[in-house]
Amino acid sequence: MSNTGINVSHISNFGKIIDPSLISDDPQIVSDYGGDWCKAFKRKPSLVLFPKTTQQVSSILSYCHENKLCVVPSGGRTGLAGGATAQNHEIVLSLDKMNKIRNIDPVSLTVEVESGVTTQALQEAAKAHHLFFPLDLAAKGSSHIGGNLATNAGGLKFIRFGGARDLVLGIEVVLASGEILNLNSQVRKNNCGYDLKQLFIGSEGTLGIITKATLKLTPPPHKNFLSCLGLHSMESILEVFKLCHQSHFQISAFEYLTEHTFKLVQTCFPDSIKNPFQDIYPYYLLIELESHGNEALNEIEEFLASLFEKDILADAVIASSSEEEHALWSIRENISEGLAMSGPVVKNDISIPISLLAEWEEEFQSLSKAHPELDTFEFGHIGDGNLHLNYLGPKDQKTQDFYHSIKHFQEKVYTLVKKFKGSISAEHGIGLLKKDDLHFTRCASEIYYMRKIKEIFDPHKILNPGKIFD
Ligand code: FAD
Repeated sequence: MSNTGINVSHISNFGKIIDPSLISDDPQIVSDYGGDWCKAFKRKPSLVLFPKTTQQVSSILSYCHENKLCVVPSGGRTGLAGGATAQNHEIVLSLDKMNKIRNIDPVSLTVEVESGVTTQALQEAAKAHHLFFPLDLAAKGSSHIGGNLATNAGGLKFIRFGGARDLVLGIEVVLASGEILNLNSQVRKNNCGYDLKQLFIGSEGTLGIITKATLKLTPPPHKNFLSCLGLHSMESILEVFKLCHQSHFQISAFEYLTEHTFKLVQTCFPDSIKNPFQDIYPYYLLIELESHGNEALNEIEEFLASLFEKDILADAVIASSSEEEHALWSIRENISEGLAMSGPVVKNDISIPISLLAEWEEEFQSLSKAHPELDTFEFGHIGDGNLHLNYLGPKDQKTQDFYHSIKHFQEKVYTLVKKFKGSISAEHGIGLLKKDDLHFTRCASEIYYMRKIKEIFDPHKILNPGKIFD
């Protein structure tokens, strides 16, 4: 279904719902808002609407439902699966103007937000109240809470606090018909039948538009100690992980990158990214351990020294100032940017059962060696079993062409993922990018029931058409 029929009368009717200054058909704005970070698909939106209230979102959807006009919900547009891409003249509904943070409650440890609040703005607001909002990702400056919920974002602290799904008490959502569904519970325990809000979380804007949420906050964590480790093998990474679990430290981040990925970031940002070691190692870990007490730093040093003595580690440094922490984190946080600067990129976001990662790596490496034409970069949230495998194409090739040219290889990777009983999308979602491959992780009856749920909430199929499945 497409919106080739958008006409002046539709635009004038939208002008009765929201101020005409909140409607744009300016080609630059329409193009900017018609897509996300995934460059594998063409953008062809018709116009962008910027409602300011839930009631306006409801009136817009009710009008679109009656007139069978398709709508793409748009958050911070940092999505990596093409979920916020309008390909067929859809109307883009941006949540940019719905960005109020309300009622930070230090007793219940909750906050109410509109969905256009950025992840970082919420982190900062919580901090100002001596509280902590744990969802953290490199895109936090732009990504919206609504987008985080719609994609069930994971991020850097998943290992400690869980993902978006775990941080939500309630949401307000507007259905395709315009009906406002208030699932906005404030309570932490609620066992009254089906938990409908969870259907909308991770539904990538295909079932409804999230307009508000009540989220959990936590007290600020104890002090975190960030270290960077150099290692020789995936087996050593798993050994470090096991021993961290057996220690009394709380793991709050456990990230990895390979030598090849490290070199790319260093080449792209020579002034800011420094090798923390004298040598280069096949694998790097960034681990954050949370601890308290005066002896915490000594204890962590001793712990790392014991790993070194057991020959598990090749090298290690602990950041001793916030500047050093920043320098180490920026190695990890600049990978996506570095890749984006270097040529067309196709991103994978798989997860594998953690204890099988060494076997996985061996099989993936031999598959990669059989395809030397592909330049593969590995990194990710390895403590969650979540690996980002990124392929970099020739600089002069368009991402769309590169994406199509490597589909045969992707199929082989996904077949391997299936063999390991993994997932083809750990956190970025399916969007447009992976919809042909959904069957590698979801069986036919799961997809059948997903389609039935879509039919219930969006019978005219106007919400984010073509995403997750056709
Ligand atoms: P958008 O890109 O605008 O939209 C994403 C999807 O949600 C689309 O399908 C859209 O239609 C839908 N949507 C948006 N808002 C709403 C709403 N209010 N109601 C209903 N549907 C809506 N992701 C992770 O999980 N972990 C990471 O560590 C991580 N790191 C990243 C690092 C970088 C540098 C970048 C660029 C991206 C990263 N991402 C990561 C991916 C991305 O940031 C997340 O998916 C994020 O949650 C998307 O939020 P957004 O507001 O940008 O959503």
